[in-house]
Amino acid sequence: MANAEGTNYNFIEEIIANDIEKGVIKAPVTRFPPEPNGYLHIGHAKSICLNFGLAEQFGGECNLRFDDTNPAKEETEYVESIMNDVKWLGFEWKNLCHASDYFDQFYEWALDLIKAGKAYVDDQSAEEIRQNRGTLTKPGVESPYRNRTPEENLDLFSRMTAGEFEEGSRVLRAKIDMSSSNMNMRDPVMYRILKRDHYRTGDKWCVYPMYDYAHGYEDAIEGITHSVCTLEFQDHRPLYDWFIDNVNVPHVPHQYEFARLNLTYTVMSKRRLLELVTSKIVNGWDDPRMPTISGFRRRGYTPESIRRFCKEIGVSKADSMVEIELLQHFLREELNKTALRAMAVLRPLKVVLTNWPEGFVDELPADNNPEDESAGSRTIKIGREIYIDREDFMEEPVKGFFRLAPGQEVRLKHAYIIRCTDVVRDAAGEISELHCTVDMDSRGGDAPDGRKIKGTLHWVWSGDAVRAKVNLYGHLFTLRNMNDMEEGKDYKDYLNPESLAVMENALVEPFLANAKPLDKFQFLRQGYFCADYEMTPERPVFNLTVSLKDSWGKELKKQ
Ligand code: ATP
Ligand code: MG
Repeated sequence: MANAEGTNYNFIEEIIANDIEKGVIKAPVTRFPPEPNGYLHIGHAKSICLNFGLAEQFGGECNLRFDDTNPAKEETEYVESIMNDVKWLGFEWKNLCHASDYFDQFYEWALDLIKAGKAYVDDQSAEEIRQNRGTLTKPGVESPYRNRTPEENLDLFSRMTAGEFEEGSRVLRAKIDMSSSNMNMRDPVMYRILKRDHYRTGDKWCVYPMYDYAHGYEDAIEGITHSVCTLEFQDHRPLYDWFIDNVNVPHVPHQYEFARLNLTYTVMSKRRLLELVTSKIVNGWDDPRMPTISGFRRRGYTPESIRRFCKEIGVSKADSMVEIELLQHFLREELNKTALRAMAVLRPLKVVLTNWPEGFVDELPADNNPEDESAGSRTIKIGREIYIDREDFMEEPVKGFFRLAPGQEVRLKHAYIIRCTDVVRDAAGEISELHCTVDMDSRGGDAPDGRKIKGTLHWVWSGDAVRAKVNLYGHLFTLRNMNDMEEGKDYKDYLNPESLAVMENALVEPFLANAKPLDKFQFLRQGYFCADYEMTPERPVFNLTVSLKDSWGKELKKQ
């Protein structure tokens, strides 16, 4: 079957299209159900694009649901960041839901299961329960408390709920099958005692439901037709169905599983991302090196590029590793069309134009984006003293180096042709400035006699350049596939010590001082950059979004 664009449906679209055709549903109702225990990452973006995308595509609805059943880890800060990220990606939820709104209903259904002899209070410790669960080849051992009467269970569960017992002393378990070949069906825990305040329900509860117990009921209450989750929940599906089948729910949802997104050179689990933040290895959840949506945003990524990426990688039932370069590709494609061009010198080297008329300042036109005429042009100024990037000069040029070298000519972008005549050194023997002659007849950049100039350099004029801080970012980890970590090693052993290089004394064109945070630019010949949240006109700060071509790995090593 094909969709409107003529491409093939993925397997979830196929299921939904069939359900609509057979009249099982009119339109799908989906949900994106994050636990508010961290910031969203690019893997979540895949789930967001899928769930919201399915609803859009088939004229249905998608809820944003906070799966907030564990008070120990959840916070309002995360809730806000999640709403912000979903909106930023360009999606609107039908209903904003909270699992915690259904705590009373979950509790009622737990009582129903107890009364039906399908749930019991177990006094075993967590350790005993784990040991008695058995293994894949060995059945579990039934709890000595498994055959308590419903009356006794009701009494104990209400006392658990009233706070009479200590954390860890008792749990409520489903009574299913301790010898099931599916470990998830071996009397899973439904409720545990947690004497913690919940960020929404306060101190009302001291028993909280487990994910497996609650999730299907959340879907049932909200009328979710297609409950889409990642593959690791495939083995939980019989349990999902068991809870649904054994109480009187208003609606029967179904769970479908797809492969999670893995991305090269990064980790994606919230537990690890939280550790990177709390141990200050990165500067917060929105550090531009983080694979979080807020990190990508601060780095200069756009919602469109992330959505295109998610669409391109598609939905399948086999786990795979996706190249970060693919995401970069979509981003470059977009920024090439939209980013204003500017000149920025990251490692300034002074150049004196020795034959430049004393006191003369020329004003030259420069296009703002050669890919977009409507972006217009600006005026750039040049005088006797300019700066170029240190790496655009080689005193002893290697073969094929067409940038500046003694005796060699280059074009200053939008301006003049210059030739290097002298290299000046400071007391320590370091090159401190270059002397060049300028061909005053080459205004605009073309030689009057038509001679060929191979190299074109970006530059800034000392008279109006603005000092800026530029953060150059590389991969956070050195290992391409973080699932390939050597045994006994920790993911932190693979941190890239060169993931950030700060250029404190970059010099940029003056108009960049007025950039607003997240404004995006192409720094000619270098890459795409965006203004950081911390920037002010007095202290502009830019983040490397992505290089023009992938050479930053090498560039960073040169530091
Ligand atoms: P993590 O494992 O990173 O902590 P999680 O699965 O615990 O993530 P949730 O808040 O429960 O995080 O996730 C919300 C939704 O996002 C779930 O439906 C989950 O399946 C989906 N999701 C999480 N990680 C990925 C991923 N890497 N690729 C696709 N979907 C994902
Ligand atoms: Mg989870």
